[in-house]
Amino acid sequence: MARIRTQNVSAAQWSSNGEALGTVDLTEARNNPFGENVFSASVQRDCLSSDAFRMLQSTLETGEAIDPALADEVAAAMKEWALARGATHYTHVFQPLTGLTAEKHDSFFAPNGEGGAVADFSGKELIQGEPDASSFPTGGIRATFEARGYTAWDPTSPAFILENPNGALLCIPTAFASWTGEALDAKIPLLRSMDALSRSAIRALRILGDTEAQRVFTTVGPEQEYFLIDEQYFFERPDLVTTGRTLFGAQPAKGHELDDHYFGSIPERVLACMMDTETELRKLGVPVKTRHNEVAPGQYEIAPIFENSNVGSDHQQLTMQVMQSVARKYGLVCLLHEKPFAGVNGSGKHNNWSMATDGGHNLMDPGDTPAENINFLFFCAAVIQAVNKHQGLLRASVANLGQDHRLGANEAPPAIISIFLGAELDKVFEAIESGQGDPSTPGSFLELGASMLPRLPMHGGDRNRTSPFAFTGNKFEFRALGSSMSLAFPNTVLNTIVAEAIDDLADRIEQRLEAGDGVPEAVAAVVRESYADNRQVCFGGDNYDEAWHAEAERRGLKNLRTTPDALPEILAAQTIAAFDAYGVLSERELESRYEVWLEQYVIGANIEAETTANIARTMLLPAALRYLALADSAEVGAIASQVRPLVDELLSAIDALDDANLYPDGVEGLELARYARDSQLVATASVRETADRLERIVADDLWPLPKYSEILFVR
Ligand code: ADP
Ligand code: MG
Repeated sequence: MARIRTQNVSAAQWSSNGEALGTVDLTEARNNPFGENVFSASVQRDCLSSDAFRMLQSTLETGEAIDPALADEVAAAMKEWALARGATHYTHVFQPLTGLTAEKHDSFFAPNGEGGAVADFSGKELIQGEPDASSFPTGGIRATFEARGYTAWDPTSPAFILENPNGALLCIPTAFASWTGEALDAKIPLLRSMDALSRSAIRALRILGDTEAQRVFTTVGPEQEYFLIDEQYFFERPDLVTTGRTLFGAQPAKGHELDDHYFGSIPERVLACMMDTETELRKLGVPVKTRHNEVAPGQYEIAPIFENSNVGSDHQQLTMQVMQSVARKYGLVCLLHEKPFAGVNGSGKHNNWSMATDGGHNLMDPGDTPAENINFLFFCAAVIQAVNKHQGLLRASVANLGQDHRLGANEAPPAIISIFLGAELDKVFEAIESGQGDPSTPGSFLELGASMLPRLPMHGGDRNRTSPFAFTGNKFEFRALGSSMSLAFPNTVLNTIVAEAIDDLADRIEQRLEAGDGVPEAVAAVVRESYADNRQVCFGGDNYDEAWHAEAERRGLKNLRTTPDALPEILAAQTIAAFDAYGVLSERELESRYEVWLEQYVIGANIEAETTANIARTMLLPAALRYLALADSAEVGAIASQVRPLVDELLSAIDALDDANLYPDGVEGLELARYARDSQLVATASVRETADRLERIVADDLWPLPKYSEILFVR
C-alpha cells in the first residue's frame, strides 16, 4: 500500500463513532454522573440493612477481616445492584507484576437444573477468587506447576461497573497472593506500606502532642501525560502496534519549538474525546479535575483530585484503561508510552504525594500556628532524610525501558534524584541548620523556648519544573514517573522509606526528651541534625544543566542512567532492611520484583530490536531500492549516488542488528540486560539513524510509514 496524502485527508475528516454527549443541565443533581457506577458507601447504605451497613463500615475502619455472614449479605446486595445496571458477569480485578490490571470474568448465571438459569453470587465468591494464574510473572516465587494464586476482596477500594455496548461487568478490586501468602501483585505491598506509615506517623504525632489522630493516610494525585493520534497512522505503523513507540521517524521541520501547543486551545475532536473520557471516569467515581494541552504536538494531560494512595492508585489504572478505550470511539489511539517519538517530548506522570490524618490535617501543610509549624518541619525533615538515604531505590521504582529514553533527555528530570524545597523553605532549613535567623527578614522567626524556629511561609510559591522531587506548597511532587506506570510501587517505596525516617527521627527526639529537653527544642535539634546530614540531596537549580550532573557527582549523589543500572537498588541491603522492618516486602518478594522487572526490560528490548530489523528489512529497504531503481531508470546519476551508499549502509546495519539479536551463550539476568542495552539497543539505534536519513530523500509516495509531520499534526 503506497502512502499518499489521501490518508491524511481522511484522518483529518474524522467523524465521531461515539454518541454525542449533548449538554445537560448540571444544576440538576441527577444530571451529575459522579459515582453512578460505584458501589459506594451511599449505595451500600441504601441496599444493606442498617446493621450490616454499620458492621461493614466498622470493619473497614478497623481493618479487620470480614465476617462470612456479613460477606453473604454484602454479596447479595452487590449482585442485585449490579444486575439492575445490566451486569451479566463479575470479575476480581487485580494488579499482577506486569504493571497492568488483570481480570477474569465469571457469569452471575448458573443453570437451575430445569433448563433455566439463576443469578448466583455468594459471599465466598465476593471475598476470594482463584484465577488460574499460572502465566503471570512471579519472579520465581511460584513455580508454574503450583499455579495456585488467590485474589482477595479489598473492601477499601469500592467495586464498580464497567459498561460495554453489549453488557456490563461488575469489577471487584482485589489483592493477589500466592497460596503461601506472598504478594504477587502491586496492591498488597502498597496497603502494607500505608499501614506502616500510619503507625510511624501516629507514634510521632503523639510525641509532638497530637492526642486525636488515629490514623494517617498517604495521599496521591497523579498528573498523567499522554498522546492522542489518529488511529489510521497507528495501524499503519507496526512499530507503534507492537512496541507502543515509533522505532523510526525523521524529525519534522516543525516540532514544539514554537511552544504553540502548550496550554493552547484544544482541538475539537480531542476535546470531545476528553469530555467523553471524563464522563466515563466520573461515573466510575474517579474525581477527574484538570485537562490541558502539553508541550509536544498531540500531547495532553489529565489530572484528578487526590485520594488515599490505594484508591488513587486503583483509579489511576482505571483512568489509563478508560482513556485508551474511549479514544477508539473517536478514531484516536491514546499512547501511554514514555517516549513514543524520538526527539519530541515524552510523557511522564507527576506523583503528588502527601500524608493526612483521619481528621483531615495535611501533614505537609506548613500551617499557621507554631505547633503546626513544628509538625510540618519534622515530617518534612523525615522526607528529606528518606529521599537522600534511598535515592537509588526511588530511581529504581521508576525504571523501565521507556524511561531510559526520557529521564535526563532535557524534558524530564535527570536520573539523579534530588529535592527542590523552594527558596522560602530552603532559607528556613538553612536557618535552622546554622542556628541563626535570617537577618534580612527580621520578625520572620518565632522564639520558641531556647530554640529558634522560623515562621513558615504559607504555600511557598516558586516552582522548579526540572526537579525530580519538588515541594509544591503542601505536598511533594515526585515527577520522575513514566506515563505508562502504575502508581503502586513508587508510592509503596515512598511510604516505606518515610515511615523508616519518621521512626528514626522520633527515636532521636525521645532520647532528647528523656534527657530533659522540651518538645520544641528536641524537634529543632533533631531536624537540624537530620538536615545537616541530608542536605546534599537538596538542589534548587536547573536539573537539566550539565554542571549539576558534575556537582551531583561531587556531592556523591547517585546517577543511575539506565534500568540495568537502577534495578539492583531493589536488592540493596538497606532496601531489604527497610522493607523487612516494616513488613512491606520480604527479601523473597523483593527478589521476585527485581527478576520480573529485569526480564521485562530484556524482553522489551528484544521486541524493539527484532521489530526494528523486520521493518527495516521488509519495508524500508524495499522502498529505498524502488527509489534507487527509479533514479537509475531516469538515468540521474546524482540521485543514485546519494541513495546507493545509504542502502548499503542500511543493509549492513540490519545485518549487524540481526547478529546482535542472537544472544551470546550463557548470558542471563543482569548481564543479559546490560547486553541488551549495550549491544542490541545500540545496533537498533544505528539502523534507525540510517533509515531516518533515507526517509528524508526517498520519494514520499514510496515511503511506507506515516511520518512524524503527519502523525503529530493531523488531527
Ligand atoms: P500544581 O502541580 O500546579 O500544584 P495542583 O495544585 O492542581 O497543581 O495539583 C496537582 C495535583 O496534585 C492534583 O492531582 C492534585 O489533586 C494533587 N494534590 C493536591 N494536594 C495533594 C495532596 N495533599 N496529596 C496528594 N496530592 C495532592
Ligand atoms: Mg504539578
